[in-house]
Amino acid sequence: MEHLLAQVRDSVEVSEAGALVPIVRSVITDERHRLAAGVKPAADADLVDAVLVRLEALGDPTLTIPPRVINATGVILHTNLGRAPWPRAARAAATAASSGYGFLELDPATGRRGRRFRAVEEHLIALTGSEDALVVTNNAAALLLAVGLAGRRGAIVVSRGELVEIGGGVRIPEVVARAGARLIEVGTTNRTRAADFEPPLGDGRARAVLRVHPSNFAMAGFTQSADLEAVAAIAHRHGAVVIDDLGSGALLDTAAFGLAHEPTPTERLTAGADVVVFSGDKLVGGPQSGLIVGRRDLVARLRRDPLARAVRPDKAILAGVAATLALYRAGRAVAEIPVWRQIACPPEDLRARAERLVAGVPPTAGIDVAVVEVASVAGGGSLPGQTLPSWGVALRVPSPDRTARALRAGPERILARIADGAVVLDLRTVQPSDDAAIARRLVADAPPPRG
Ligand SMILES: *Cc1c(COP(=O)(O)O)cnc(C)c1O
Repeated sequence: MEHLLAQVRDSVEVSEAGALVPIVRSVITDERHRLAAGVKPAADADLVDAVLVRLEALGDPTLTIPPRVINATGVILHTNLGRAPWPRAARAAATAASSGYGFLELDPATGRRGRRFRAVEEHLIALTGSEDALVVTNNAAALLLAVGLAGRRGAIVVSRGELVEIGGGVRIPEVVARAGARLIEVGTTNRTRAADFEPPLGDGRARAVLRVHPSNFAMAGFTQSADLEAVAAIAHRHGAVVIDDLGSGALLDTAAFGLAHEPTPTERLTAGADVVVFSGDKLVGGPQSGLIVGRRDLVARLRRDPLARAVRPDKAILAGVAATLALYRAGRAVAEIPVWRQIACPPEDLRARAERLVAGVPPTAGIDVAVVEVASVAGGGSLPGQTLPSWGVALRVPSPDRTARALRAGPERILARIADGAVVLDLRTVQPSDDAAIARRLVADAPPPRG
């Protein structure tokens, strides 16, 4: 051990020599296992090399960050792939903010402690017309914080049609319980009217109403949900507050892109919501964050809540969110935010790219590849059931599962979809600069033709 450690120290420069000890120990342990299995002893130089290889791996960030993936699933906001890719401006802002010190919570005019990086909040106020704003780590945190407005052991009214699971096993009744509030259910699974909210608010049992946007499911048939404006009027008449969880929340009109209209925070505030919470990394298209807008006094209460400190975003994230929101204010969101660029991309462009890819596969490659019309989705709990017409490439192979696995495991890490017995690559979610990598892979894999 000491002998090997000394040799390693001679061949590598580290500022903390102590860090070498566990690595040397792990190499020796592995060597002992090999000896026990009857393998002949390794040379000293090989053991030193083994240590250096392990050390080098620790210095390679690509091994410790999630590896980059080419998303050919057509799911724009894929939660398992990290949702929204950041706009270039957000990446630059996060790098700048994390590269040194900054006036994060210090007022340069007075030299005293000030509000924490106000720029994001100012952008939110300007974009939504709200009185004040606050940013936390994600929308689940924003929701938990906002539900706290019901007060400890206070009650909050929720429609039975909105007692949903928001994802990852997190359910609204559990969020309410965790916030220390009591849940009062009104209405039924398929139909709730504004009048259903009257009794618990009228007799003072509840001081808050929670509305949850049906962002990951759609109900059809004999359904009715209470109009926000009417519910807010009842709540306000009895001095209660209305909290609106929009889930995705869009800052642009999705209907302009051939999708159903996703409610905007401004519309909900105008309709009477007192606090609106939404995600920064769904349709907003920026870093993971929870965006809170609403009444000045209520946002101030949320800011003072000790929980707000526990869900406070990092300076790099704040900078990234600010840069993303600034793109909306500058009128450059569709051009520069990847999520919107993908939503807005005309199908003809995707078809042309698919045709180029297919044309690039030589007939001699022996693979059955074709241009196909497909349907992309927003995903990530946004616009359920809504699709965008798209184009892609279909590979008809003997085993779609095996080919899909090979694409995932290959050096380009391409995530495809399997549909109608074929492996399908939807180009809407693929950056055009990645088409070349796909073309390479198509030829490299050359799976044998069917039959
Ligand atoms: C996605 C979603 C959440 C959770 O947001 P995160 O940003 O994932 O924390 C909460 N509520 C609704 C309605 C959602 O759609």
